[in-house]
Amino acid sequence: FTRQDEYNILILGLDGAGKTTLLEKIKNLYTGHPGMAPSRIQPTVGVNIGKIPMKRTLVKFLDLGGQPDLRGIWESYYEDSHAIVFVIDSCNSERIEEAKEALLGLMEARDLDGVPVLVLANKRDLKGMSLAEVKEMVNSMADFMEERDVRVLDSSGLDGEGVRAAVEWVYSRII
Ligand code: GDP
Repeated sequence: FTRQDEYNILILGLDGAGKTTLLEKIKNLYTGHPGMAPSRIQPTVGVNIGKIPMKRTLVKFLDLGGQPDLRGIWESYYEDSHAIVFVIDSCNSERIEEAKEALLGLMEARDLDGVPVLVLANKRDLKGMSLAEVKEMVNSMADFMEERDVRVLDSSGLDGEGVRAAVEWVYSRII
């Protein structure tokens, strides 16, 4: 791979949203690697990386820790990122405002100007917020999105539903 064939995708979101589970599922779907069993996944401190060869490129997925004291680290990765996947726990209505604040923070980061964002309403295997409700939340932030390429999809990192569609949307935006 030459350098311009490598792309970085940041997987961001609050702790517990399902970022690591999602990354393990992506690795499993695209490389055949069995991935870590969901029961063995620990909260991320630092970064988990999954390098996935896709078509003629190498896509690097970076899952960054989402606990409040770790969110400051996100910024140092913005400059080199080509797309953001922002994972929302659609079942955790108590933390939806906090998730919205974190997403707003991303929209305001100058280093992320123009970077496409996929908002992923995760844990769709459980009864939580619907895709429509998450879309409505994202639409209410339209003033902050400006001309940005934003899409809202749903997924279950646990059973893999929607994961390929999510990766394919992101891939279609970076190439
Ligand atoms: P992270 O902190 O964002 O990396 O979240 P984790 O990947 O560690 O997941 C947090 C918890 O949510 C774990 O108990 C996961 O098994 C669970 N989880 C993650 N994704 C899903 C999902 O799609 N559906 C369900 N039901 N649980 C999930």
